[in-house]
Amino acid sequence: MNIEIVTIGDELLLGFTIDTNAAHLARELAALGIRIVRRATVGDEPDGITTAIREALERTGAVITTGGLGPTADDRTKPAIAEIFGKAMVLDPDILAALEQRWLKRFGVSMPESNKQQAMVPEGATILTNRHGSAPGIWLEDAQHRWVAMLPGVPREMRGMLADTLMPRIRDRVPAGGVVVRSRTLRTCSISESAIADRLGELGRGVDGLSLAFLPGVDGVDLRLTSNAYAAAETERRLNAAAEQLTEKIGRYVYGEGQDDLAELVMLECATRSATVSVAESCTGGMLGVRLTAMPGASRVFQGGVLAYANDVKTRELGVETASLVEHGAVSETVARAMASGVRRKFATTIGVGITGIAGPDGGTPEKPVGTVWIAIDLDGAVHAVRAVIPGDRAEIRQRAAQLALDRVRRAFQGDAASEGWTVKA
Ligand code: AMP
Ligand code: MG
Repeated sequence: MNIEIVTIGDELLLGFTIDTNAAHLARELAALGIRIVRRATVGDEPDGITTAIREALERTGAVITTGGLGPTADDRTKPAIAEIFGKAMVLDPDILAALEQRWLKRFGVSMPESNKQQAMVPEGATILTNRHGSAPGIWLEDAQHRWVAMLPGVPREMRGMLADTLMPRIRDRVPAGGVVVRSRTLRTCSISESAIADRLGELGRGVDGLSLAFLPGVDGVDLRLTSNAYAAAETERRLNAAAEQLTEKIGRYVYGEGQDDLAELVMLECATRSATVSVAESCTGGMLGVRLTAMPGASRVFQGGVLAYANDVKTRELGVETASLVEHGAVSETVARAMASGVRRKFATTIGVGITGIAGPDGGTPEKPVGTVWIAIDLDGAVHAVRAVIPGDRAEIRQRAAQLALDRVRRAFQGDAASEGWTVKA
């Protein structure tokens, strides 16, 4: 099945908002074996919307739009498309009642008059319920089974509605057994692209009829396997087998899959082990704390932290000895270890993490270039420390340092304190 996407919004044309909706739709639909054959973006002006959708319908007979379903004057998608299908706009009493309920329940006030527009739908349309926001989606179909599905612009609502209501609808129309395009991504940390390639050898060029992409980013290198030549069951079998082969070679560096966030995984592992965490951060300035507390329920695991920049804060708050600071410098193994143990003692936690480093652009020396970071983990009194020389600018060095620290906690749990690998050197 071929589908066209039309995303609607002046902000997309102006470049203020990146069109993530089209990308998400394309990925999700490819997994069902549907090809997105064309994408268009138009502004909020009705003629432009009507023209783009009329043309797309003539070509493929199947169109998904996002945006312009809101309650304001710039939301014109529904009437523009109703016109193509020769339908009048009518008030849907069920939607109106649901909207009024939602306002009373969520905000405790009666609904503003302008929201009434969200209850206007093209006559004869199928309503796609929105459990993630107020604007319902719309499905319009003509006698020749040509259809347009209208989804909201807000990405979170769009994704939710796609998964809840639109995907099942479309899936029913796709003939079984067709070729699908699906990916599986392994997330790695503490190892470079080239070191992964070395370890993978021949596998690095693709596994068992699947392509393999190396995708480096601040969180590490993602390895994405993609299959685009097989039906669904065979695709799953090959993706699983290939992921297993990769894991055999580089498993210790793989911390998760897909969209997994290392901080979240570390927090879950801590919760499973009834372990608590505290952090002493210098060069990352609280980034580790931010990441560890992003998850709901974080306070059961995360106890607190110290942002220790000045030397006397390291001494006073964490018990780092002045002599260590003088002799080894603030960015040193001794100080990182003392920070980790100091914060662990201070907050009486299972794990203490210490980070100290030079984020630049100034402050580097030949022995300690910009990007030098010492990370120490004190797990139940067993301390291990590693040195990394992290590439990138100040922002990247700080983000990578936080990610590396999380990876050291993950490794410490696995009893794998070895410091071979990418930038991590003892
Ligand atoms: P709308 O439904 O047109 O009122 O859009 C609501 C908000 O969703 C806009 O302010 C944008 O921030 C966002 N948005 C709309 N379309 C897209 C898109 N194609 N990709 C990403 N974000 C979008
Ligand atoms: Mg809009």
